Amino acid sequence: MADAKSLSCILCPRGCRLELLVEGELVSVSGNACPRGEGYGRQEALAPMRSLTSTVRAEGGVRARLAVRTSGDIALARMLEAVYALDDIVVRAPVAAGQLIRADFLGMGVDLIASDELKALPGSGDGYPYAGASAAHDSGAKR
Ligand code: SF4
Repeated sequence: MADAKSLSCILCPRGCRLELLVEGELVSVSGNACPRGEGYGRQEALAPMRSLTSTVRAEGGVRARLAVRTSGDIALARMLEAVYALDDIVVRAPVAAGQLIRADFLGMGVDLIASDELKALPGSGDGYPYAGASAAHDSGAKR
């Protein structure tokens, strides 16, 4: 038996209301004004993806947390795992905006990167402001 769902396409400001009929791996999409909406509807029905934006702990910086994000979308089904994994990451300031924190984060095919700059505290011996050094390190905990 097919499941009916409806959702708004968020790929452009037009915001088409998509009607989905889902039966196993088969998805029929209607209400889309362009082909992109069909792909979006299928993706949302079968394997929704989201970007992760959050923070990780930071040492030696002017703030105790560093804003981070994934470089692309990850499976919504793995979002909780990804959020928990952030607890194991500690970075050392200074960190530049866009700096790589984890390559291929949890093997999900996207990187975890700093979404903001984090300057070192004056007198911390790490340079102030950002000196360009690689700053990410493990807290010793598992990934
Ligand atoms: S279906 Fe196409 S036109 Fe409609 S909101 Fe999505 S991207 Fe925009």
